[in-house]
Amino acid sequence: MTHPTPHLDLSPPVSDEIRQTTCYMCACRCGINVHLKSGKVAYIEGNRDHPVNKGVLCAKGSAGIMQINAPSRLRAPLKRSGPRGSGQFTEISWEEALTLATDWLQPIRDTAPQKLAFFTGRDQSQSFTSLWAQSYGTPNYAAHGGFCSVNMAAAGIYTLGGAFWEFGQPDWNHTKLFILFGVAEDHDSNPIKMGIGKIKARGARMVAINPIRTGYNAVADDWLGITPGTDGLLILSLIHLLMQAGRLDLPYLAQFTNAPVLINEDPNSPQNGLFLRDEDGHPQVIDRRTGQLARWDGQGVEPDLTGTHRHAGITHRPVFHHMADRYLADTYAPENIAPLTGIPAARIRQLAAEIARVAFDEAITLDQPWTDFRGIHHASMTGRPVSFHAMRGISAHSNGFQTCRALHVLQTLIGAVETPGGMRFKPPYPKPATAHPRPHCKVTPGQPLNGPHLGYPHGPDDLCLDDNGNPARIDKAFSWENPMSAHGLMHMVIANAHAGDPYKIDTLFLYMANMSWNSSMNTSGTMKMLTDMDADGNYIIPHIIYSDAYSSEMVAYADLILPDTTYLERHDCISLLDRPICEADAAADAIRWPVIQPDRDVRAFQSVLCDLGHRLKLPGFINEDGSAKYADYADYITNHIRRPGIGPLAGWRMGETGTQHGRGTANQGQIDSYIANGGFWVEHVPQEAAYYKPWSQAYQTWAVKMGFYDSPQPYIFQLYVEPMRRFQLAAEGEGARQPPDHLRARIMASMDPLPIWYAPLSDTPGDESYPVHALTQRPMAMYHSWGSQNAWLRQIHGHNPLYVPTKIWEANGFADGDWARVTSPHASITVPVAHMAALNENTVWTWNAIGKRKGAWALDPKAPEATKGFLLNHLIPELLPARGDGHRWANSDPITGQAAWFDLRVRIEKCAAPLTETLPAHPGITSPVPRGPAKIAWKIGT
Ligand code: SF4
Repeated sequence: MTHPTPHLDLSPPVSDEIRQTTCYMCACRCGINVHLKSGKVAYIEGNRDHPVNKGVLCAKGSAGIMQINAPSRLRAPLKRSGPRGSGQFTEISWEEALTLATDWLQPIRDTAPQKLAFFTGRDQSQSFTSLWAQSYGTPNYAAHGGFCSVNMAAAGIYTLGGAFWEFGQPDWNHTKLFILFGVAEDHDSNPIKMGIGKIKARGARMVAINPIRTGYNAVADDWLGITPGTDGLLILSLIHLLMQAGRLDLPYLAQFTNAPVLINEDPNSPQNGLFLRDEDGHPQVIDRRTGQLARWDGQGVEPDLTGTHRHAGITHRPVFHHMADRYLADTYAPENIAPLTGIPAARIRQLAAEIARVAFDEAITLDQPWTDFRGIHHASMTGRPVSFHAMRGISAHSNGFQTCRALHVLQTLIGAVETPGGMRFKPPYPKPATAHPRPHCKVTPGQPLNGPHLGYPHGPDDLCLDDNGNPARIDKAFSWENPMSAHGLMHMVIANAHAGDPYKIDTLFLYMANMSWNSSMNTSGTMKMLTDMDADGNYIIPHIIYSDAYSSEMVAYADLILPDTTYLERHDCISLLDRPICEADAAADAIRWPVIQPDRDVRAFQSVLCDLGHRLKLPGFINEDGSAKYADYADYITNHIRRPGIGPLAGWRMGETGTQHGRGTANQGQIDSYIANGGFWVEHVPQEAAYYKPWSQAYQTWAVKMGFYDSPQPYIFQLYVEPMRRFQLAAEGEGARQPPDHLRARIMASMDPLPIWYAPLSDTPGDESYPVHALTQRPMAMYHSWGSQNAWLRQIHGHNPLYVPTKIWEANGFADGDWARVTSPHASITVPVAHMAALNENTVWTWNAIGKRKGAWALDPKAPEATKGFLLNHLIPELLPARGDGHRWANSDPITGQAAWFDLRVRIEKCAAPLTETLPAHPGITSPVPRGPAKIAWKIGT
């Protein structure tokens, strides 16, 4: 007897159309295939052709489908109808909303443009938003870099002309030892996962240095559970040991760094500590061929690392001498730093030996000739296969800039930057600090600002100060308080505006920045500042405009809401002018485009800015006849010309004979070409230019052809950052522009041109009241604060206990289910605790931004995020305690202004009985969108 075999369709079609765009569930910008069925998103998968992810998709990326369907999406423009902070709004039309915004913004542009503070969060359109702010004329613009990882970015640019992550990556194909400092999951997701997979498959080793062993640290071959804030000390000790052992790449240092550049040694000279320069201002080295002075970049010059020079009665010694003086000192001997770092001296010696062995005994050579900028031909490429990666973990400290600098100096001393197996730059990087703009702040009523807001100062003349020497910006960026604040200080805007220090503002305009909750220090205080009134009953910050796609905690504190689209409903460009998707072997950029249409009355924020630019008659946003220059952001992406031949997108520009890449005029079919190509454009770096990019003639020629810069700009790495010495000289009394007296000592101490380590500024020597370090990190499964209202991702992290190491767990007699009161010098919180053994013994930590305020994000007020979730932000003050001089410094790095989130110290005590809700429990807010259903389910297609 036979039975019919049932027909099973094992692979039913999931979609009837695939549209390719760019993910925005984190900042990695992977390519995605969005499967549509009956016009609805049915499934998201990775794009196998995409240069960033090559088909890999993470949990966040696939959960994008819940993001575009989230109940918390804002639905229409909103005007506040109740008291600020209540969450009571009335829906209005876009015309009403834009008229209201124009009515607030036009008068202050005409009289005092600095009264607008325009700050954006994890904005991926900064080259556009900054152009808008520049055109408006306010000096008060920045994105979120100042509270994120500006120390890493600025230290990288000042030292190497590039940084980790977006601007650089390990040479995954050749590295043999990969050393990871600090948390990385939040910034580098799929690319670093793929990279770690690649090196592990080859048998390369991975060492993780982090107080917490989670995420990438959990798959490392070795883990050093360092004490928070002491990474710089460990790195300087590694430098000490490598110098002592003579395990340095001397030819590399001589040719490609400023180690041989001569420094004025006369303490009485106004040039003390500055480079010896020729008449044309070129730093001088000794040429080994002649023993004479020569330009650092002279043709055929062979710089000498050891030669000194007497000139006009003054001795000049090379940078390398100064480094040896400093780093060979016993201060950095492992035995001396071990108690502070929590890493035994033997393990520090072991790590230094491993770095030296791999760099020099396992060096690799690629049979690839190349020619450097001095015209010297090299028959091959020598690699030191040791690579590093770091992001916010080491940078979000008040000593973070110097720590990040120290790491780059370590990499450079072993010749492991831009060589095979080391760190490689991603085009359009490398680009030295001198090739970036300097900051601008000159305000003229009714006119644009005199140049770009953000940049890289090279001395006191570049500071943003008013005629009286006071900060010109509301966040005090580029002032004597933090002279090299390349990304601004977004975390100080609300506090400064509330205090009227340095001045009052009229309108706070924010884009996707949850400043009344997880993006602020002193969260409770910030909410109060946003709602405080003056004696006349007017809000101290008179107007707040906010754009977001979701009903976040910040929405309740705005007067006017401009609802944004989700990332699948909009145009975007991931531009070479901004933060592109390049790889070390290729220049690349990408777009987003509306693969679905919004089902709500929302508009892409960038298109709204084009409209506002027209209404406000901003130069660059109107034609000569006053009509709108750009219909929307897509029109801007296609037609904006930044400089001749250069626009937001580099692919498929128009040449004389058709389309071409890099340079060219606007092409009306450009976005269609991107869509046809999967949403991205890529152009490979020539083989000869693959390494040694700052010095390679082949790379420089290619970079000019592609439009990264207009003439070759070779440079050498800056182990010694001369601009920092210029600030020190001003503090010592040199020059016309000098700091106020109360800041002189701080500038002299912090702005050392060679990396140093100092204890975090909030530490009080001898005070053991707060003995425990407290940290947060973003989980791998969530990047934006949107993540913890995403129906799928909430199932991974629904709440966030405070993880406690064994020593503290046992000392307090904690057991599962216990709660603890955690107290900092600023505030207290009460939270559930959990035991974690793989943790620095004096550190507690939790996931950041899981905790939500009741009423926000369309969540049930009883949701675990709102009851058991919590923020450490409540414990962190935005100002340090008053010191002897009465001044309260920002809780920031004194050089860059980076928010010092990870300097937090606490004490912890067990609660007598478990609680049902975390404290502080802020009253619920009314949400302008209805609460989400208990179950979210829908069917797509038939
Ligand atoms: S790594 Fe980031 S960009 Fe890539 S798929 Fe995941 S969430 Fe999207």
